[in-house]
Amino acid sequence: MEKVLLLKFGELFLKGKNRHDFIKLLKNNINKKLKDFAFRLTETQGRLVISSYNENDEDEIVEKLKQVFGLIGVSKAVEIDTSLKNIEDFVKSIDFSSYKTFKVESKRADKRFELKSMELNAHLGEVILNSNKNIKVDLYNPDVVVNVEVRVNGKTYVYTKLEKCAGGLPLGSAGKALLLLSGGIDSPVAGYMMSKRGLRLEAVHFHSYPYTSVQAKEKVIELAKQISCYCDEIKLHIISFTTIQEQIHRHCDEEYMITIMRRIMMRIAERLCKKNELGAIVTGESLGQVASQTMQSMTVTNSVVTLPVFRPVLAFDKEQIMDIAREIKTYDTSILPYEDCCTVFLPKNPVIKPTIERAVKNEQNLDLELLIETALQNEETIIINNF
Ligand code: ATP
Ligand code: MG
Repeated sequence: MEKVLLLKFGELFLKGKNRHDFIKLLKNNINKKLKDFAFRLTETQGRLVISSYNENDEDEIVEKLKQVFGLIGVSKAVEIDTSLKNIEDFVKSIDFSSYKTFKVESKRADKRFELKSMELNAHLGEVILNSNKNIKVDLYNPDVVVNVEVRVNGKTYVYTKLEKCAGGLPLGSAGKALLLLSGGIDSPVAGYMMSKRGLRLEAVHFHSYPYTSVQAKEKVIELAKQISCYCDEIKLHIISFTTIQEQIHRHCDEEYMITIMRRIMMRIAERLCKKNELGAIVTGESLGQVASQTMQSMTVTNSVVTLPVFRPVLAFDKEQIMDIAREIKTYDTSILPYEDCCTVFLPKNPVIKPTIERAVKNEQNLDLELLIETALQNEETIIINNF
């Protein structure tokens, strides 16, 4: 009998012949996440098992596993050599003193085992009742569920608690994209959400130093670090937007300033994608949240790029986005009061329904190519890894 961690993964089952690759990715990501610990990772039909670790590390390992996309749950379990006698002996030894009711839930994955799942439930229920005088069976609302999984590797796993993990798909299974990362609440959440669907991320941040402060930039680095514990390594491209903003301020209609800014951000983002082999752009836009996030505004900003733009929080209320920000621990950093480059030179009345024609006309007053290329040439890159 050995203490182990039993890991459940979810949707991977749906992936048919890709399943093998998904599990391989998931195992690589787990190995990377737990690089500071000694342990053994094995696979048995539909489950992963972590064993041979130092018991003092157990809680820390569990916390780390909760940040690995693709896992839906982790249980502290015991691994028993499969035999009815061994299972009986173990369930007899469970301490039920803090429970009034229980139920047994068995899964007989190994069809060679002598009792079917239902029979095993009933049998172990009896065993537990016989050795614990003050406990009753409650099939509908038990205080504790004794889970018994008889697996084909000749081992049986017993556990009473399942801790929820992040879910989603293994990092890397969906390719790689570029996150537009501001210092706000929404974009770190957007990055997290897309990463959870299997995308690896690079990020780009536009700053307007000296109109924006050094702290504003540090705040973004900190946010990238915070999401990196889920998203793995992030290459952060830091681009100065100062000259571009000054030029827009000087030469474009005030109400179109934000529209033009966002079109230039998208163009720069797309060039970074091409250069770094990234297949999509991710933003934290939410429909109707501000003037630049109306359907018409998004049409006008989208029209300068051909790559898909993923906006995972598009349909979310601010409250919902804030809840996720708290959960992934970016919220406190996001609300630090440093200005973003979008907030300096802010027009009083930004256009709510811009048109492509007027945007193009405004841009004719700028040397777009020179502005974009100069910004890209002065790019600063930071590799962030907090996985
Ligand atoms: P956020 O909370 O993410 O800052 P927001 O509600 O402040 O979003 P906007 O400022 O309109 O909204 O920005 C919309 C999206 O554009 C952001 O979610 C982000 O993806 C991108 N973005 C805005 N400013 C920057 C910036 N300085 N650098 C990189 N991306 C930016
Ligand atoms: Mg913002």
